[in-house]
Amino acid sequence: MLAADFTRLAEEIDMVNRSEADWFHLDVMDGRFVPNITFGMFIIEAIGRLARKPLDVHLMIVEPEKYIESFRKAGAEVITVHAEACPHLHRTIHQIKECGAKAGVALNPHTPIQILENVIEHIDLVCIMSVNPGFGGQKFIYQTLPKVRQLKEMIDTYNSMALIEIDGGVGLHNAESLLQAGADVLVAGSSVFAASDPEATIRQLKAFKAGFDF
Ligand code: ZN
Repeated sequence: MLAADFTRLAEEIDMVNRSEADWFHLDVMDGRFVPNITFGMFIIEAIGRLARKPLDVHLMIVEPEKYIESFRKAGAEVITVHAEACPHLHRTIHQIKECGAKAGVALNPHTPIQILENVIEHIDLVCIMSVNPGFGGQKFIYQTLPKVRQLKEMIDTYNSMALIEIDGGVGLHNAESLLQAGADVLVAGSSVFAASDPEATIRQLKAFKAGFDF
């Protein structure tokens, strides 16, 4: 939703409701973990009142453990924290699950997947950042593809149920190779909202692979 036009947010939410998209992806930035500031639970709660699909909340913030319950109360069904922002990642994952949300862990482009080896069984979703987090509209980092393949292997090895989500620079040009590499969830921002027909673009993205069960 970061790429949506916030002066007509209700219409943009409606478009996503009508479309074949599965989730609303909401990027929360605090100006500390990343250089940018976006929005918090107040806006998420407002979006949740109009959204008819699950809210996937991506916390690009320091000390996310302080706000997990508030984001859950605001309507988040998936809460993703950054591994780089969590010195006690195992505890934070369980904190997310205990409040009834699905637990996601995001990795910056330079963070190796091995950091997840001892917690992968407990994670519902791994978000691989394919740009440096902080701003929408950036160019996709191609080293993401081998990283997704490695992660897929790790998930299979540990019999984890974790979905692989790709966030940043995703569009029609790379969706198919990402799905082939093992991705389950594609986050598309600018490539959808800047398109002349956003709904059709979502349909084309979804056509690369049928949907999955939440
Ligand atoms: Zn995100």
